[in-house]
Amino acid sequence: ASRAHSATTSHSSRAIRIRGARVHNLQSVDVDIPRDALTVITGVSGSGKSSLAFDTLFAEGQRQYIDSLSAYARQFLDSLPRPDVDLIDGLAPTMAIDQKPGSTGARSTVATITEIYDYLRLLFARVGIPHCGNCGAAVERQSPDAICQSLLKLPEGTRVVLLAPMVRGRKGQHREVFEAIASAGLVRARVDGEMLPLEDVGELSLRKNHTIEAIVDRLVMREGIESRVAESVALALKLGQGLLVASSQQGNSGWTDRLFSTAMSCVQCGSSIEEIEPRTFSFNSPYGACSTCDGLGRMKDDESDQPCAACGGTRLRPEALAVTVADASIDQVTGMSMQQAEEWINQLGPTLTELQQAVARPIKLEVSQRLNFLQRVGVQYLTLNRAAETLSGGELQRVRLATSIGSGLVGVCYVLDEPSIGLHPADHDRLIQALRDLQQQGNTVVVVEHDEATMRAADRLIDVGPGAGTQGGKIIVSGTPKQVQANKRSLTGQYLAGNDQPVVPQSRRTRSSELVLSGVRTHNLKKVKVRLPLGCLIGISGVSGSGKSSLIGDTLLPAVRYQLEHGKKMPASASSVTKFSRISGVDQLDKLVPIDQAPIGRTPRSCPATYSGVMDEIRKVFAKTREAKTRGFGANRFSFNAAAGRCDLCKGLGAEKVEMNFLSDLFVTCTRCGGKRFNRQTLQVRFKGSSIADVLAMTVNQACEFFENVPSVFRLLSSLQAVGLGYMHLGQSSTTLSGGEAQRIKLGTELARKATGQTLYVLDEPTTGLHFSDVKRLVGVLQQLVDQGNTVIVIEHDLDLLVGCDWLIDLGPVGGKDGGQLMAEGTPEQLAALKGNVTGRYLQDKLN
Ligand code: ADP
Ligand code: ADP
Ligand code: ZN
Repeated sequence: ASRAHSATTSHSSRAIRIRGARVHNLQSVDVDIPRDALTVITGVSGSGKSSLAFDTLFAEGQRQYIDSLSAYARQFLDSLPRPDVDLIDGLAPTMAIDQKPGSTGARSTVATITEIYDYLRLLFARVGIPHCGNCGAAVERQSPDAICQSLLKLPEGTRVVLLAPMVRGRKGQHREVFEAIASAGLVRARVDGEMLPLEDVGELSLRKNHTIEAIVDRLVMREGIESRVAESVALALKLGQGLLVASSQQGNSGWTDRLFSTAMSCVQCGSSIEEIEPRTFSFNSPYGACSTCDGLGRMKDDESDQPCAACGGTRLRPEALAVTVADASIDQVTGMSMQQAEEWINQLGPTLTELQQAVARPIKLEVSQRLNFLQRVGVQYLTLNRAAETLSGGELQRVRLATSIGSGLVGVCYVLDEPSIGLHPADHDRLIQALRDLQQQGNTVVVVEHDEATMRAADRLIDVGPGAGTQGGKIIVSGTPKQVQANKRSLTGQYLAGNDQPVVPQSRRTRSSELVLSGVRTHNLKKVKVRLPLGCLIGISGVSGSGKSSLIGDTLLPAVRYQLEHGKKMPASASSVTKFSRISGVDQLDKLVPIDQAPIGRTPRSCPATYSGVMDEIRKVFAKTREAKTRGFGANRFSFNAAAGRCDLCKGLGAEKVEMNFLSDLFVTCTRCGGKRFNRQTLQVRFKGSSIADVLAMTVNQACEFFENVPSVFRLLSSLQAVGLGYMHLGQSSTTLSGGEAQRIKLGTELARKATGQTLYVLDEPTTGLHFSDVKRLVGVLQQLVDQGNTVIVIEHDLDLLVGCDWLIDLGPVGGKDGGQLMAEGTPEQLAALKGNVTGRYLQDKLN
């Protein structure tokens, strides 16, 4: 009964078959996803891609996996709901590689997520050389055999006294020492450098520090004394608990002492060093973590972001930092980028002994393989110690992707969400190759993606649509990219066929006043100077890690915000991150509006209607109805946050929270109001036949029609429509919104505000989650803001958006410490005309 899967039924044994999927807006979808292939799912925002990939495919994969577990394990987990789908078969174990911080806590770093750190810890524990905390000398561990060998190398005739250190600079009663020496059958000791009969040890002053060494043997070196040396060395090491002093004299020269040790102790000063083991280097364990910051690298709850004074941000105890491999400590290695770390590990060979090389070989292999994967997915600029918390969603997903490739698992179905986020078009090829590798290892790879190059590289392309929400949820076409391209009803196909390309503006805006920021040194920026023409749409481009966020989010935003708030320029002392020398032009602005992807509210109570302010207007409409007036209900009665009107069982939430032991909290529909959030009296008030709960259940599109004649409501709703959110339900809980959706709600809300004409809007990758056709609409909205006289700055990779900009600032040439330079500034046409500018090269294709 489906047009979608007809082309693939013959391969169904090699496919995951989905039949009758009705999750969220999916309209009883039938589709086949080929196994061991690369499938891309695309479609306009809100069409149902995630509902298909994550809420159906991945959810069922997880559920089937739990079903396959033992009855014991299942009793804790059996509450996973079955997605609303008739049948899914052919499914392998399923894993989602997503962008949510999830399990990565304050202690996760790139090295720990990828397991590289586990291997480094092993390497440092096995072949690392500890250094003495007192004198810095390298500490070596010697076998009794090796000690004998070095004594036997002394020239013939050398006089040697073998001593067992018993007490080192300590006051007190030395009876037990006396007894220990005597019971070994020895009769003399060296006390404070002077040879004495053993009896005198008992007479020593109690109040003075003494150093006591038992005299184990006196030798004159000659042939044939090997066995005597071995016996005496063994006895000395036993008495000296692994330490031995050999005092020797050649000819008439003086006596010289050498300390030997089988334990970890300093040969120079004799202080003992703890045994090192992998835990010594773990900042998640009390064995390794810096005790001042508890392994966090900075003080908890410290807003200033300064590194911990004790460990300098390395998270480790001094003992761990004092161990080196090839002259580098573990924190020096984790401070390297992927490229540097790979070089370091590859040159390890010659500095190690043969035995150490054998130990290090398998570890080197694991580490360099992973470093290689990380470079292939385009995060070669990240340092290994970079905290997971500071990674962008796209970077985190790519790090996880590299980890999956490195795991070498076979027969897994991986589901990814827009892995191209944050990647420059120039880096897409490497990412696609990484996805290919994962597939060719014998895995099924399913990617939700809007990027054109990724779509063209897919074995199977599935277009979900045609519209969003109730207007979507169908499979428009499923086939090879060529087949999709030939489909006239598919928006994706039409775009791929080149029939629906972005609109390139006829002319670019120019302005005389500009914002100038110079001497920027934040993170990797190299004293960059940029000009941002006011009243223009400005795009910031450049490969991932080149410094775009450092320039805008970490420098321009705080500098402008400070000046608008304090009425004076931001001093250098105001932040440890933001570094620049001059800013001018801020006086031309009166407002700064950053529009980021942070959630619009963390409680299930907030929703698009409340955030956008449209709820306030709708409440006024209900309060003006005759019914409300006769009952004496004011606008507040229609708020689910106020006691009078809401359901008092669920307190207006519409759901009750059930705390689960092992899973995250579950919300079940409120038994009293049935999810309507309001009490019966409130619901009896109707406007045009609908209650306030009915209105909250409407999509933005439906509500637009419904409130057509109420300008205050209509104006706000049509702004949400304009940013492509027409499909969204007014009362949908904010916690279910994606970052891109949250950003667009903010944008829509801003759009509805009375424009000052002197506002600076700053957006970071607003095209996230947007299909080509959505991008077109978004560009229209941004142009509208600029037409009102405002300035809009967008950090972007999407070429369809970049060609619509008046002015571009391109950073590069690479990510990481060698990036951070201004490559070009100008109109898209000027960039495209530059020789050797990577962004320009991609723009050329769009401009022609
Ligand atoms: P896409 O991934 O294509 O952007 P989604 O699958 O996220 O689209 O959403 C499809 C539709 O399902 C939208 O109308 C969206 O609002 C709705 N939806 C998504 N998640 C939920 C949810 N948890 N509860 C209710 N509706 C949802
Ligand atoms: P882009 O936005 O172009 O992807 P970023 O500005 O995020 O680039 O990063 C530029 C450089 O600064 C990179 O080398 C990155 O690793 C480094 N960097 C960014 N944020 C931080 C941070 N919070 N701590 C340390 N280094 C950072
Ligand atoms: Zn209720």
